[in-house]
Amino acid sequence: MPASDSDFHASSDEETHADHNIQGGRRSGTGANGTKSKHRTTQAWEAAASKNWDLQEGADGRIEAVLGGLEEADKRRRLLKDTTPLQRGIIRHTLLILDLSTAMNEKDLRPTRYLLMLNYLVTFIQEFFEQNPISQLGILGMRDGVVMRVSDMSGNPNDHINAVRALRTSEPKGNPSLQNALEMARAALYHTPSHGTREVIFILGALLSSDPGDIHETIRACVRDKLRITIIGLAARMHICNEICAKTNGGDTSTYNVAVDEVDFKELLMAVTTPPVVRATDKEMRERNKAALLMMGFPSRVVETSPTLCACHGNLNMGGYRCSRCAAKVCGLPATCPACDLTLILSTHLARSYHHLFPLMNWVEVSWDKARRKQSVECYGCLTAFPSIPAEYGPATSNITSIAIQKSSTRRAEGASESSRYECTVCESHFCIDCDVFCHEVVHNCPGCQSRELISQESQDEDSIGITNGNQMELS
Ligand SMILES: [Zn+2]
Ligand SMILES: [Zn+2]
Ligand SMILES: [Zn+2]
Ligand SMILES: [Zn+2]
Repeated sequence: MPASDSDFHASSDEETHADHNIQGGRRSGTGANGTKSKHRTTQAWEAAASKNWDLQEGADGRIEAVLGGLEEADKRRRLLKDTTPLQRGIIRHTLLILDLSTAMNEKDLRPTRYLLMLNYLVTFIQEFFEQNPISQLGILGMRDGVVMRVSDMSGNPNDHINAVRALRTSEPKGNPSLQNALEMARAALYHTPSHGTREVIFILGALLSSDPGDIHETIRACVRDKLRITIIGLAARMHICNEICAKTNGGDTSTYNVAVDEVDFKELLMAVTTPPVVRATDKEMRERNKAALLMMGFPSRVVETSPTLCACHGNLNMGGYRCSRCAAKVCGLPATCPACDLTLILSTHLARSYHHLFPLMNWVEVSWDKARRKQSVECYGCLTAFPSIPAEYGPATSNITSIAIQKSSTRRAEGASESSRYECTVCESHFCIDCDVFCHEVVHNCPGCQSRELISQESQDEDSIGITNGNQMELS
């Protein structure tokens, strides 16, 4: 080791004298010799890591207002997304393929890639069914050159969570095989109905694939079967993965990403919970979608005094739902009736899927000037008092002035509203950041727009003055 080390130093020194520019772009050579580090270009991850400490105190010498602004900006960044209403496949048939090979023992993601993946998967499964209640999920694992079944296609999150938890007791082993996995996914999705999507999501830690045959043949078969493949890499980009994603997504490679750290990994995984856009090239699918009517049952809940067998698992349990067509008892919803194959759901499941098709518009930041014109003093949603308008923007109306002036004197972080108000562009109500997050992530509706509809209905019905307190505040 020492001999080779000195060789390395000597040769890299020579290079430095010969050409500074080449040395500058090199990643491994510079770490060994501290004197050359100043010639090195900053890597993207280094810039991101040092940015956190780049805090400047406000004009009043305090840091609270700046930190508050950073926090708001951070919340907003997660919230802002494309709100164009697009046709999305809300009935999804998704297969998750996990890498269970030795590459998952790497500790570059803490505690190990394997354990981190299992942790995030539990959250992912819950979120997936929260966002896609009428979809089906299945999990496969690549271990030791073959593909094993972790859990079957089902709409019940608990089945998958239990299966993922059970993986903790086993160790990653051998090499993964992308070809085997694709073949198995193709077979598993072959019988899914045409009105839904066919999606495959890989979590891949390895930088190799040990395949028994020609993977290009398999990719072509996947394209024929209209599979859409998403790959989340944990190590580095691979050409074959890029090719798989490009070919199965009509040339679009945005579905292939490599996570740089734990946070990035989680974000990439959670991004999958949003239903995919139906592409313009999927002509056949669109035509089919136009006329496709799907039969669904809305079963009624049964209350029992003694346990009976459920038709789905054959377990003895109390209560459940009775299929509206054949009266078989299932223990949970959504489900497919095991006796007559009818899709059984609750109306709330349909409503929850609906918001993907008509997303709530992003709310906009409100300047002090606008806040003064509207004279908004509290959040329309939760009635939390806003910081009042500073003196230079007109007369302050609220009794809490001291905090407000402190805040106004500091420039807030990029993305945060200077007045801490966020406006719905439809009803022009002002909201706080927490209501902004809550309305966009949980309720998917605007309280201002909703109450307005309610008020106009009431006034039409009763033909009287239907102005409530909330509305008065706005009109004043
Ligand atoms: Zn059951
Ligand atoms: Zn039935
Ligand atoms: Zn609020
Ligand atoms: Zn609104």
